[in-house]
Amino acid sequence: MVPNFSNLLQLIDRFPDEKSCHQYLAGQRWDGVIECPFKECKGDTAWVFKDGIRYKCTCCKKIFTAKTGTIFENSKISLKTWFVAIYMVLHKKGISSIQLSKDLGITQKSAWFLLQRIRTVLGNEEILELSGTVMADETFVGGKNKNRHANKKVKYSQGRSFKDKTPVLGLMEAESSRVSCFVVPDTSTKSIQPIVKEYVTKGSNFVSDEWKAYNGLNSYYYHYVIDHGRKEYVGEHGFSTNAIEGFWSLCKRAIIGIYHKTSRKHLQKYFFEFAFRYNYRKLGVQQQINLFIENMHCRLKYKDLVS
Ligand SMILES: [Zn+2]
Repeated sequence: MVPNFSNLLQLIDRFPDEKSCHQYLAGQRWDGVIECPFKECKGDTAWVFKDGIRYKCTCCKKIFTAKTGTIFENSKISLKTWFVAIYMVLHKKGISSIQLSKDLGITQKSAWFLLQRIRTVLGNEEILELSGTVMADETFVGGKNKNRHANKKVKYSQGRSFKDKTPVLGLMEAESSRVSCFVVPDTSTKSIQPIVKEYVTKGSNFVSDEWKAYNGLNSYYYHYVIDHGRKEYVGEHGFSTNAIEGFWSLCKRAIIGIYHKTSRKHLQKYFFEFAFRYNYRKLGVQQQINLFIENMHCRLKYKDLVS
């Protein structure tokens, strides 16, 4: 019986060497039925080498490991280091590549690479349709003007945005507090409503502020408007967008305090990270690591390889 782990120390103890990491990864990836990761081979049996890490496919005779065809492949960083990095991304409010490089004793370049790969996997998490009561809100990130901090969201401004800021639309289900974030080109009806209609179940309660891009959604939802213009935080109807605004403030603290600046190009990845961390904050460490491995979509990768 392999021991479980529920905190960082236990995680480190659980994986004393590469072999233990590989075996854990293999167990999660294949669940007893090995899939040869090589192109055009459908082998499902393999010989295991004495090192407990390498396999030889009984069909194509090629050698592979649990890392083959995953984000860990072609990385000189040990699997244990990857696991600890994943833990840190999910348990800190955000971690910079500089800090990660110091904590793990790797170069900043390697740390940056790890973080980008980890965020990509977090972005593989399926976006579920939200229902019941769903809050919508936007936030604005970036901008060159020092005075325009990300937390200064200007309501009623024309277009509701600044030229040098990137808008992000968030949808949060009230009951589960599950959130999804979408980097959008602007906050127009055209940019916002298709996303809302795709990810919010028709007939749900839909809570937003008075921004005009939400107008018309009442033919799909019970639309409750919070009039922030009148300094209203909870409407007379009893709904509010406070929970999603709380989430935005976590994101902004991470962006301002840790990442300092985020390019538009990478912004969606950062929001994948923020949403994943938030949505799975109550899972145990092991469940989080398992979920991460599941989201590597090794099987999809395998399909990509053979297609
Ligand atoms: Zn094979």
